[in-house]
Amino acid sequence: MMEQADDALLLRALPFSDSSLTLHVLTKNHGRISLMARGARRAKSPFRASLMPLHHLNIRWREPRTGSMGTLIEVNRLKPLLQEQKMLAGQTLLAKASILFPDGVHAGFSELWNALHTLSERPEGSGTAAAIWEMMLASGWVGDFEHCWQCSEPIHLSETMFWEHSHLCCVTCAQHQGLTVTSGCRKSLLNHLTNSNIKLIDSYTNIWNEMIRSTFLAHQIMHR
Ligand SMILES: [Zn+2]
Repeated sequence: MMEQADDALLLRALPFSDSSLTLHVLTKNHGRISLMARGARRAKSPFRASLMPLHHLNIRWREPRTGSMGTLIEVNRLKPLLQEQKMLAGQTLLAKASILFPDGVHAGFSELWNALHTLSERPEGSGTAAAIWEMMLASGWVGDFEHCWQCSEPIHLSETMFWEHSHLCCVTCAQHQGLTVTSGCRKSLLNHLTNSNIKLIDSYTNIWNEMIRSTFLAHQIMHR
């Protein structure tokens, strides 16, 4: 049974029996893996203090002889990746990352890492939306702000677009249906993604959250 070591981000830790945890982890070089952390729920377990979400972890584990669940051997907690007051928003990012980067997908570590950085640099509300959008972009769930996602035509930033059926559409494709995404809104979202100094007004953050919510909902219905 081979031993492995890697940088890691903890997605989820679920109780297994009275004393152990099963972990879902995104690793830098091994993709998403599941691990058994034996005894991790016991008060004296060395895993207890180190197994923290939203921290840069370095882990060592033994690969499974059969099945897909390895065994955690050692975990070192390096640095927190978010300020204390943003840890709750960080949990929202973990929940989304867990859906966007499921088992068997090799990506996820650097995408989540970058998203946490995006959130850490921005106000919590708009920063959470920007960070989730960034991961959705990396997963191919959403397109850019400068093309119609239906007809692929480039749409100048001075024009209004529409959010219809989880797609950003030009006037022609949307036929004036759906949520209006004004040129000002589109410019602001684009700028907020790339520049942490540009603030986003609440009404634009709300539109962004609705775009995110409806996209996740559409994927849930599709994969049910
Ligand atoms: Zn179009």
